[in-house]
Amino acid sequence: MTLIDGKTVAAAVKDRIAEEVKENGYTPGLAVIIVGNDPASRVYVNNKKKACEYCGFHSEEYALAENTTQGELIALIEKLNCDEKIDGILCQLPLPKHLDEKAVIEAISPAKDVDAFCEADVGKVMIGNYTFSPCTPAGVMELLKFYNIDVSGKNAVVIGRSNIVGKPMAMLLLHANATVTICHSKTQNLKEICRGADIVVSAVGRIGAVTADMVKEGAVVIDVGINRNAEGKLQGDVDFENVKEKASFITPVPGGVGPMTIAVLMQNTLKAYKSNKKIK
Ligand code: NDP
Repeated sequence: MTLIDGKTVAAAVKDRIAEEVKENGYTPGLAVIIVGNDPASRVYVNNKKKACEYCGFHSEEYALAENTTQGELIALIEKLNCDEKIDGILCQLPLPKHLDEKAVIEAISPAKDVDAFCEADVGKVMIGNYTFSPCTPAGVMELLKFYNIDVSGKNAVVIGRSNIVGKPMAMLLLHANATVTICHSKTQNLKEICRGADIVVSAVGRIGAVTADMVKEGAVVIDVGINRNAEGKLQGDVDFENVKEKASFITPVPGGVGPMTIAVLMQNTLKAYKSNKKIK
């Protein structure tokens, strides 16, 4: 079994970015908006800020109060849409219940939508002609590429069908010529379907969603899930200890897909900068 080391692969991606930024005197700027006090969101935002520092980007954080109104949030996004120092804008999800997430995502200028969450970007991923990569799925594809895992012709099962992970993940695997099955909470015979998979990607958000009896000997297992166990520690969806005995490759949580998501966000921000400044 090979442990897929997302930290090392992500560091290599960020090193390349940092080098390009330094050599050319680029100044990409990322604005991160966080609303409320969700501790998990705070950790993600801090990690994104650290990655910006590492890559030599300019970053701005807007930490807004829990009771921020829709109008205030949209006004901030509109201001950032026009700010020349800012090339990418992301609003950390989930938002407090009284805010309309879809409207907030759509308010971000498509030229600065480095999370690739807006409807137009999601649609472009389906067609396979996109500027900004969907961060988490593209991070998974980078990991597969780094470890020379050939996807073409393989049976891939994606568990989860969210617009930000499951669906774009399935599309990227399809573009890479895998035969893809998408599973969700209404799927029957999940175990049997997974057992037929050469590659399993779990994006459920539940500890123990993938157990050893669901995995074929030699399968590649990618765990996107980020959960907190009873001790408050980060844990993926996959029963790592038992599944690793059967898998050929497996990602840990933490240290697997998570760092790659941020590395792709940095790639997208650099792309946005170059496109906004008309640099080839
Ligand atoms: P969502 O809650 O939006 O989607 C979860 C999906 O899992 C849904 O499609 C749901 O099905 C499906 N599901 C739930 N229960 C089952 C079940 N018993 N069997 C099969 N499918 C099931 O989550 P996200 O896609 O946003 O995120 C998924 C996980 O990935 C979370 O843990 C999240 O924290 C993590 N994540 C990690 C990132 C990273 O960088 N590593 C980035 C983004 C997310 P249905 O549609 O029928 O409800």
